[in-house]
Amino acid sequence: MGNAKLVYAFTEGHAGMKALLGGKGANLAEMTRAGLPVPPGFTITTEAYHTFFRAGYRVPAELQRQVQEALRGLEVEKGQRFGEPLSPLLVSVRSGSVTSMPGMMDTILNLGLNDETVRGLASLSGNEPFAYDCYRRLIQMFGNVVLGVESIQFERLLHRLKAGLGIELDRDVPADGWRRLIEDYKQCVLRFANREFPQNVQEQLALAIEAVFKSWNNQRAQIYRQLNRIPDDQGTAVNVQSMVFGNRGDNCGTGVVFTRNPSDGESILYGEYLINAQGEDVVAGVRTPQSIGALRDEMPEVYKQLKSVCEKLERHYKDMQDIEFTVENGKLYILQTRNGKRTAQAALKLAADFVAEGVISREEALMRIEVSHLDQLLHRGLDESAIRDVLAVGLPASPGAATGMVALDADTAAAWRKEGKPVILVRSETTPEDIHGVLASEGVLTARGGMTSHAAVVARGMGKPCVCGCESLSIDEEQRKLSAGGGAISEGDWITLDGASGRVIRGCIPLKEAQVTEELLRILQWADDIRALQVYANADNPDDALTARRFGAEGIGLCRTEHMFFAPSRLPVMQRMILADTGQERQAALDELLPMQRDDFEGIFRAMEGRPVTIRLLDPPLHEFLPKLEELHAKFEAADNDIERSQYSRLIRKVKSLHEINPMLGHRGCRLGIVHPEIYDMQIEAIFKAALRCLEAGIRVSPDIMIPLVSDANELKLLRERVDEIAEQVLGDEKRKECGYKVGTMIEVPRAALTAGKIAAYADFFSFGTNDLTQMTFGYSRDDAEGKFLPNYLEQKLLPRNPFEVLDGEGVGQLIELAMMNGRARKPGLKTGICGEHGGDKESIAFCHRAGLHYVSCSPYRIPMARIAAAQAQIEHSQNIEFSAG
Ligand code: ADP
Ligand code: MG
Ligand code: MG
Repeated sequence: MGNAKLVYAFTEGHAGMKALLGGKGANLAEMTRAGLPVPPGFTITTEAYHTFFRAGYRVPAELQRQVQEALRGLEVEKGQRFGEPLSPLLVSVRSGSVTSMPGMMDTILNLGLNDETVRGLASLSGNEPFAYDCYRRLIQMFGNVVLGVESIQFERLLHRLKAGLGIELDRDVPADGWRRLIEDYKQCVLRFANREFPQNVQEQLALAIEAVFKSWNNQRAQIYRQLNRIPDDQGTAVNVQSMVFGNRGDNCGTGVVFTRNPSDGESILYGEYLINAQGEDVVAGVRTPQSIGALRDEMPEVYKQLKSVCEKLERHYKDMQDIEFTVENGKLYILQTRNGKRTAQAALKLAADFVAEGVISREEALMRIEVSHLDQLLHRGLDESAIRDVLAVGLPASPGAATGMVALDADTAAAWRKEGKPVILVRSETTPEDIHGVLASEGVLTARGGMTSHAAVVARGMGKPCVCGCESLSIDEEQRKLSAGGGAISEGDWITLDGASGRVIRGCIPLKEAQVTEELLRILQWADDIRALQVYANADNPDDALTARRFGAEGIGLCRTEHMFFAPSRLPVMQRMILADTGQERQAALDELLPMQRDDFEGIFRAMEGRPVTIRLLDPPLHEFLPKLEELHAKFEAADNDIERSQYSRLIRKVKSLHEINPMLGHRGCRLGIVHPEIYDMQIEAIFKAALRCLEAGIRVSPDIMIPLVSDANELKLLRERVDEIAEQVLGDEKRKECGYKVGTMIEVPRAALTAGKIAAYADFFSFGTNDLTQMTFGYSRDDAEGKFLPNYLEQKLLPRNPFEVLDGEGVGQLIELAMMNGRARKPGLKTGICGEHGGDKESIAFCHRAGLHYVSCSPYRIPMARIAAAQAQIEHSQNIEFSAG
């Protein structure tokens, strides 16, 4: 690797070199080229990091040589020498990753100071306290970052010194005080790090560079990367920069400024500064900083310059900038600029404003929207100032905030809701039987289960806030109480959930409404103009369908009919149907269910006004509708007469007879519809009766009847014939044409994907059930995987991410592409889409776009995100095509 260039002076780089120079280094170079006042310095590349890493955390000789060369250049430019007592060069050593990771990695200031050079700095500056303050800061930062001494040790000594002197502020400490502290600091380093603070400045520099390299792998950096999907192998660059001092006196200072308000996007300078302070004092909170507006009065010249730098940088980068600056003796220096982090609300306003100002195009604006942040916007938030007592923190499973009275079971939740009380359903875990409780509540809290647990999925689907896996929560169902952390709560007490942060808060905290701003509407309109992929919603009832329409759904991609049976008024009828001993009894129960389903369908058709409604016939195994065996045994034991006892024992027999070794692969989906045709017949009849009512009322309908879990063409052939027959019976010839229904299947079993060519002969559409398809392609049962081994796999990076959250393009995706190809070869007009959680995920949406699907379907609240993600996929895709074409 001989003479590869591992070090670049700021004058040699530019903003396009982020991968090599890191974000900070590339931007320092870009600003230097643009003639902004940046203290000179150089950047050690990410490539050098990789060499360091490969060499087993050793700085290679070639890197040392190039650093020395660059340092000499810096000395010439500054007219100072590193380690020279009379006019010492001082530098900072700053981390600088490719993707900005604010505060995650380490930086050391004032390198080059030792017992001798500090005297040089004192006499040169004519300011002794300043020089010794710099020196003690160096020992403190170096001691912490390089030598691993806990900061608290230094802070304790500093505190003791100031208390002894009767002084409150650092800047009032006299030189003598700092000198004493420096001696204490040196002892402290010796004691805790078992070595002296190095007086040799070259050793300081080498160790500091090494430490910054190593900080790439410190724990907080790793966690941050995982959260933000930043690849571990990116590595970090290191910047060595000559120091400027904001702590030399009262015409000095340091601060941070955003070119616009990052919380609402308003076009004003936004930021803070401190007079007579260095670097991180602003964020460390030792003194309360002043807001940037005050600088206009305190240093009018500097303010004017800063404002013009802000304008220049914003125009240059075409985005809101987050800028670090330092003022030394009245002169302004810029130390960093980057695209500023922003709230979802600000992001939309900025995108819309920049388009209006002609700075960027609509496409560029759309590409800048971080769709996962829109969650923040589309759900209600908390009034933070009212929060006092946080009881526990769980997983932030479904965003938004909710406040209500604790209900410990679904029936109580439903009953209280009827009385008009807002409730929060609190359970150890939730099962499908709790669904009416979830429906009735403002939010859901569970002690067990992860972000993709049932409770979370259901709550997200309904747009309800949910906190899951709150392990410190213990629920006492007998005493109707729960305890969390230190506090106890009784059923009926008020609590508040913050689904975005996972906080569980005591009491009723005021909520702030979700903001569907004018900017959001404008941007969604741009997305709709651009995207090719249609966006459908998963909705199981008329209310959800209306919500979906409000958010812009172009159809329903998945209506799960079984959810209609879980409602408290219907479950007993369903159970009667399942438990029936005779065909007659069963038919009677079905006759009761039919009008209920018909009314649901009619409501949904009306809400969708002629847009496609994909209705999946009954899918789960029947035992899911029956009580749990343990529960029945308990009731059997507790029964006080023989009649009751015999009823329970009959139930127990029936539940046992429906028991399956592996229900996921058992008697469910179309297998149920084939063995018990009367159930599907009833559902199909209900659909067409609902359609007929609508047609007679002059409302257009477009039902897509979806047969689940098909693995062989014959299954679909048989069931399709039933659908056509019943359509004929209910609608007659003419209305049947007017109705224009479709029959299709979910492709969710690998064999269905493999034989899609044959299946397409009987299908008008394919809807990829990517949840089951993922389960069956990997051979994972989702709950077991997520509860047991998947987190471990992800931690070990055996899989890049959870395939239930982000569609596995490599494996599952291949099945989808194959099924599409063979399906369309057999039937060119075949309609295709996906339903399931993946439909709301940005990367999965991009996959669907590339694969050429017609639509994605997701929960109503994710529709705006999906519309934008679909536009982003289109923009990205067409750019790639242009790129590869020339
Ligand atoms: P972070 O990534 O934590 O912001 P930085 O490398 O940006 O770390 O530096 C931390 C602080 O030190 C910032 O306030 C920065 O402006 C300041 N700083 C860094 N280098 C210098 C320098 N050469 N002169 C003066 N201040 C500096
Ligand atoms: Mg910084
Ligand atoms: Mg399925």
